[in-house]
Amino acid sequence: MFPRSQLLFLVLVLSFHLQAQNSQVDAQHYRFDVTLSDASDTIQCDAQLTLRVAEEVAEVRVDLARTMHVLTVTQGGDTIGFEHDLDVLKLPTGGVSGELTYSVHYRGVPEDGLIISHNKFGDRTFFSDHWPDRAREWLAVIDTPADKATCEFVVTAPIQYDVVSNGHLLSIDTLSAETKTTHWKMDYLIPTKVMAMGAAAFETQQLDSMSRAWLYARSGEQGQNYDFEEAPEVLAFMVEQLGDYPFGKLDHVESTTKFGGMENASCIFYSEKHINGNQDVNGLIAHEVAHQWFGNSASESSWVDVWLSEGFATYYEYLYIQTQYGLDSMKALSDENEERIRNYEEKYPDRAILYPNYDHIFELLNPLSYDKAAWMLRLLSYQVGQDVFAEIVKTYYQSHTYGNATTDEFIAVAEKVSGKDLKYFFHQWLSVPGAPDVRYTWKYKRNTLELSFEQQTTFTYQLMIDVPVQTSNNQVEIRQVFLTQKKQTFKLEEVMIHNAPDLDPLNIIYGRIQEKE
Ligand SMILES: [Zn+2]
Repeated sequence: MFPRSQLLFLVLVLSFHLQAQNSQVDAQHYRFDVTLSDASDTIQCDAQLTLRVAEEVAEVRVDLARTMHVLTVTQGGDTIGFEHDLDVLKLPTGGVSGELTYSVHYRGVPEDGLIISHNKFGDRTFFSDHWPDRAREWLAVIDTPADKATCEFVVTAPIQYDVVSNGHLLSIDTLSAETKTTHWKMDYLIPTKVMAMGAAAFETQQLDSMSRAWLYARSGEQGQNYDFEEAPEVLAFMVEQLGDYPFGKLDHVESTTKFGGMENASCIFYSEKHINGNQDVNGLIAHEVAHQWFGNSASESSWVDVWLSEGFATYYEYLYIQTQYGLDSMKALSDENEERIRNYEEKYPDRAILYPNYDHIFELLNPLSYDKAAWMLRLLSYQVGQDVFAEIVKTYYQSHTYGNATTDEFIAVAEKVSGKDLKYFFHQWLSVPGAPDVRYTWKYKRNTLELSFEQQTTFTYQLMIDVPVQTSNNQVEIRQVFLTQKKQTFKLEEVMIHNAPDLDPLNIIYGRIQEKE
């Protein structure tokens, strides 16, 4: 996901929902038969939930907003009783375990989760917008990233609406001159946050064998289809970096999502505000495409681990920008990011990337989960070497494809593949708030450069610092010092320098490394 601006999230009125955390119940598949209309914003839904239920479970707890009025619930063809309280729908198991299928029939006007509104052209549209826990606002689901499932959307809508969703299109049936039913099915396990449905008058354009652009028909008329032109190239880049694309097809959809972009599995939604024909969304496309691997296929196990999704998406976004547009574009982007992280850390000095004390999930949508985590991955790549880093990412992704992962699981893979003890590295970047602040002095005598460092922070960082020097045959060479103590002195022998040494010239390290005045 990509925030439109940090400010937006500060002014959002946030509500906290109880999460159904019953590990004894495991969602397998959802089928949503949804009816949309132009006459009112009331939607009707028949949600079929296939769940695997452990023996001792007497009651299944499903998330569904209280604004959705449940009319009937059936299980195995029989109507059963239910309780719908505090956005939780409680369904009895009747002592039956194993695979259970419930059909929940409900109706209501969604307050959130499904945005029924008018787009920038004043046309009526329907777009789901689930991140992080807003699927429950209109869908009966177990709404946590840890419980992934396959899904189907069967949408009956007035005939002028084209419907897009996850997975592949099974059928479009015209029911009458006024209505049609569109059926999409996703065969891979995905979290509820990236299950999606959009209905609008679209114009579609096949971009390559896998990628398709879905623009508002009126955007198409205005020639705004250029915005997604680079999408196939982005996908090819990510496949080269990360291996096979996990979901078969990839749609790029103009929408009313409140985020800049939302990485819905196999049908990315982009804010209509960014679709203007100027082709300035390539970084955003790269970010959302990378999410198909990180977040959608390999999903974080809990919200605290959200950096596994956003940090990776941001890292590969930068890598794409650097590869496609060169180091200068990348440098501009990383300067901007450094400032963003600094400002955030000044405002919230007690927060780190891993921040379990959050009040609401939206607090985790911050420059630490995105930019600082991406920076940490760049540092890791620098410290273990690019090839080893690529192997770490590949091994991590392959062992969690279509599954869930925790931060500890990623660290374990990184240590195993690199053969290095990286606990301190990950601790200092993931759990220690703030940044290194290192001052140094230098002396140069008889071909020896002496560097004395002093860390200003309470916490002692371990940092591998580049020192560019000249060798006796006048070649520029990068020597490295590995700072591990509060005060430490290094002697680099047989080097020449003509000016004051320029430490960490590529700005690899997040934080300050400055000559003492
Ligand atoms: Zn993102």
